[in-house]
Amino acid sequence: MSGYVGRFAPSPTGLLHAGSLVAALASWLDAKAHNGLWLVRIEDIDRPRCIPGADAAMLAQLAVCGLVSDGEVVWQSQRGHLYEQALSRLHQQQLTYACSCSRQDIARALKQQGVQTARHQALIYPGTCREATPHTNHVAWRCKLPSPGPTIQWTDRQLGLQQQDLSTDVGDFVLWRKDQLWAYQLAVVVDDAAQAITHVVRGHDLADNTARQVWLQRCLQLPTPSYLHTPLVVGADGDKLSKQHGAQPLALDTPTKVHLALQQAAAHLHLPKAPQTNTAEQLGWWCNAWRALYPA
Ligand code: GLU
Repeated sequence: MSGYVGRFAPSPTGLLHAGSLVAALASWLDAKAHNGLWLVRIEDIDRPRCIPGADAAMLAQLAVCGLVSDGEVVWQSQRGHLYEQALSRLHQQQLTYACSCSRQDIARALKQQGVQTARHQALIYPGTCREATPHTNHVAWRCKLPSPGPTIQWTDRQLGLQQQDLSTDVGDFVLWRKDQLWAYQLAVVVDDAAQAITHVVRGHDLADNTARQVWLQRCLQLPTPSYLHTPLVVGADGDKLSKQHGAQPLALDTPTKVHLALQQAAAHLHLPKAPQTNTAEQLGWWCNAWRALYPA
């Protein structure tokens, strides 16, 4: 073993679709190309969006594609105690504050400040609750960013040097949601560290989260893994292929369909067509091709 630990971290909000198979295959190939381990983590903290049974169905889909976790599969819904500990550490360092603002409150405050926001743009929190303690238990906890800054740089293996100024581009972001659920940013950072993940390979659409995650790693004194964001799979309309955009779940009920789905995912990653028809042999062949295309 090489010390490499990678992961695929799907949210069970539906079955695998063409886009999520690309992320699964890319992370698996990168792990295997490095003689590393590949772990599957089910990111089911956003309970209202999860579909009962989607986790098991997704694991079965991965298995027919020859993609099987090298360690125990973990479910984020069972790991709240770890997120709680991390949040306490951030509280102790006074890097958090409680916030009672709704989306409408934020939009109103921004409007009052004359800040224009595009319709689908994420709202940059104007800091309303920074100084005032809300008189309710029903709060979100936000990460209190130093302002100006921090400017986070990281080198993505695919995208090259990246930079984001968290205060201006993102604002004080949520760690614990107002609807009393853990936020993705905190859970992913805690779990990547707890599972000793050395390499994150995931979809291009998640690249924008990386600076927040690097910042939390620094605050919590956790190591920063290496990042590779794969090329984005877009639908016919040029939008990200996702369940929200009506991406079709992959039907993988025959060897031919499995073969086709994998070929498509591989082509998306710019891998040549594998000459074999047997899934295990195909994966091994792509692994070699992967090394040349995506060097360490
Ligand atoms: N759970 C996230 C998703 O399904 C992926 C998180 C990650 O890879 O960091 O989009």
